[in-house]
Amino acid sequence: MVAENLDAIKASLSPGVELVAISKTKPVSAIEEAYEAGQRIFGENRIQEMAEKYEQLPKDIQWHMIGHVQDNKIKYMAPFVSLVHGMDKEKRLKALNKEAAKVDRRIDCLVQIHIAEEDSKFGFDESEVFALFQKDLEQLYPHIRICGLMGMATFTEDQDQVRREFQGLKRLFDRIKSEHFPKDYFKVLSMGMSGDYQIAQEEGSNMVRIGSSIFGARN
Ligand SMILES: *Cc1c(COP(=O)(O)O)cnc(C)c1O
Repeated sequence: MVAENLDAIKASLSPGVELVAISKTKPVSAIEEAYEAGQRIFGENRIQEMAEKYEQLPKDIQWHMIGHVQDNKIKYMAPFVSLVHGMDKEKRLKALNKEAAKVDRRIDCLVQIHIAEEDSKFGFDESEVFALFQKDLEQLYPHIRICGLMGMATFTEDQDQVRREFQGLKRLFDRIKSEHFPKDYFKVLSMGMSGDYQIAQEEGSNMVRIGSSIFGARN
């Protein structure tokens, strides 16, 4: 089923939208199925689970960390992680920069923006993010590269609300890119999951994180 689900999802994506297959909680065998069907980008939300899967699977997989990052666990992924989506505080950028320096890498990451109504979700709010991009980030954190923004919409049936939240994130992205951080590499807008990725890509997402529609429901 995984290969068929992947094909269906890929057929529904707009050109230029990157698919991150979210394999959290799923066994290595499920990832292998997706890999054989051609998928190379996988996302996990726990650093140790991702590190264990990295050990067991082909080395041309690009691993994305999409979950909440604990600073003391960054060292387990620093040698191999390809993109860290959840940079939700400046101290996290600092911690990632430090661990990246130790393994002599420059690690790509995204700044997470709080766009949802629920206050349980992590991320910068608008004023915090403008304050962040006032700084000379390349000079402060030479071992990371802030490649864009990530956000999660409110978990609701109200599609208009979801759309408004994605529109807000896209506007913020455009403004940061044009006025504050005009780097070539600042180009990723990670928004959209199984339930809302269609709306997300209509509103300008270029990276969607899809789990259950590929691998089935999680326990
Ligand atoms: C689990 C998760 C996803 C994927 O969710 P699905 O609804 O299974 O597609 C996407 N993004 C984040 C941050 C997640 O934690």
